[in-house]
Amino acid sequence: MKVKPTKIVPADLSKLLDKLKKNPDEVRGSYLLNGYRIQITKYNISNAERIKLFFQSRRNQGLCKRCGKKVTKTNPRTGKLYRLCETHRKMELKK
Ligand SMILES: [Zn+2]
Repeated sequence: MKVKPTKIVPADLSKLLDKLKKNPDEVRGSYLLNGYRIQITKYNISNAERIKLFFQSRRNQGLCKRCGKKVTKTNPRTGKLYRLCETHRKMELKK
């Protein structure tokens, strides 16, 4: 579950802190500021919740639930991105 930190500039920091106050779930992750890592994670959560949050964050970023690859196709029915990349979606359809 290694996540690459998002590079930010000092100006982004106040925006980040603002969001952290209002909607901490939205800013969860690691950030890289001038060579320093800032980690915003929820403290003391159960494994089940950690896994739930992990998949939720993949979903929010439009990444495949299985492999983390960028999902490019949208579901014509909902107009939203699929949860899975093409490879995994086809695998899922065969089941
Ligand atoms: Zn996949």
